[in-house]
Amino acid sequence: TEACLAAIDKADALNAFVHKTPEIARERAAAADERIKAGDAPDMCGIPVGIKDLFCTEGVPSQAASGILRGFVPQYESTVSQNLIDAGAVMLGKLNMDEFAMGSSNETSVYGNAVNPWRRGNDDTALTPGGSSGGSAAAVAADLCLAATGTDTGGSIRQPAAFTGITGIKPTYGRCSRWGVVAFASSLDQAGPMTKDVRDSAIMLRAMCSHDPKDSTSADLPVPDFEAALTGDIKGKTIGIPKEYRMDGMPEEIDALWTQGKEMLRDAGAKIVDISLPHTKYALPAYYVIAPAEASSNLARYDGVRYGHRAKLSQGDGITEMYEKTRAEGFGKEVQRRVMVGTYVLSAGFYDAYYNRARRVRTLIKRDFDDAFAAGVDAILTPATPSSAFGLGEMAEADPVQMYLNDVFTVTVNLAGLPGIAVPTGLDRQGLPLGLQLIGRPWEEGDLLNTAYALE
Ligand code: GLN
Repeated sequence: TEACLAAIDKADALNAFVHKTPEIARERAAAADERIKAGDAPDMCGIPVGIKDLFCTEGVPSQAASGILRGFVPQYESTVSQNLIDAGAVMLGKLNMDEFAMGSSNETSVYGNAVNPWRRGNDDTALTPGGSSGGSAAAVAADLCLAATGTDTGGSIRQPAAFTGITGIKPTYGRCSRWGVVAFASSLDQAGPMTKDVRDSAIMLRAMCSHDPKDSTSADLPVPDFEAALTGDIKGKTIGIPKEYRMDGMPEEIDALWTQGKEMLRDAGAKIVDISLPHTKYALPAYYVIAPAEASSNLARYDGVRYGHRAKLSQGDGITEMYEKTRAEGFGKEVQRRVMVGTYVLSAGFYDAYYNRARRVRTLIKRDFDDAFAAGVDAILTPATPSSAFGLGEMAEADPVQMYLNDVFTVTVNLAGLPGIAVPTGLDRQGLPLGLQLIGRPWEEGDLLNTAYALE
């Protein structure tokens, strides 16, 4: 804990931690020492971790990197972070992210972007750590903490993990409680661990999961010992390679990495088969209808009355002006864009044409996966991202759709509610990390982690 606290203080340039909690860390580390002495040391006992700013942490600012939650200090702890406390983990502080987890570069944060600790060869250009869990990824990659929590609505654990050379798993929808996690798109949001390797992810995921009556979508299923599943044996497993993920214009290096991944799994005894997930091309448009629709509804609660920021009002302003001014000041551009898109696709005249159609597409995407698993596929291998980390500022001001295209390999997994993991598998020509993604059967994270283990 002391080593991490010292490292964090030296790494302000990365802007990974947006709120440091050294007192809490030292207190919990001392308590962990006591538990270890008493012979009662659970899995995460004494392990220093960072917590994404999207998680409510009791008595500690939790702002979802938004101006509208400025000064918000929850009186309660999210179930996931409470589970980690119970497992002995030591919180070092809160981690940077895109505002309300909307983004793929950490550039929509009210705190300014986090920075990727990696560089392109000798080129000093600062790169994005990815998003939205960019602070989590940068902190783990730069050894500021041993692990961090992330959340993933459309790729926000897996894309930043791939951009920073770490491992991140989004479990099956319902594995981790969403209680106390600031909502973005409730039918897609899941928490998960971001760690240095697959074994750490297995250990931390187990500590994060639980059935929680306070989240009606939380699964009432036993939480297996994911670490025990890491046997390294994948003989006889069938790995599907979906042809629709071979995108036009995909960089050669991503293709080469994919081939390398196939070979590694084949060498480990798996059978590689070509499969088709025919509705893949509709995933991104469906996601960018469903996610903003749910976000516009979830974000309606930020009205200047119940939480955080309220605009200064002028003489004669009524409640409408109060809402308008507060939301115009408190929300950043990308969040406002999503609220507008979301309200539009949910509005009476367009609901069927956009929102309902997107929901039907979602069902078709889920069925593609169901069919593949029913045909005997155990896991699906794809690239995690269409490129390595890009430069900060390179994409933010461009067409927002360019940024959305980053999520092309990851959103299908959220739409189908499946577990997906990103594993670092190589470096590109510029020396930047690249990751592969494995997608597994629902509730079989142990199996998925074990397959990922063979890629390490
Ligand atoms: N980049 C995607 C978005 O902006 C995914 C975000 C996430 O998973 N939280 O919506």
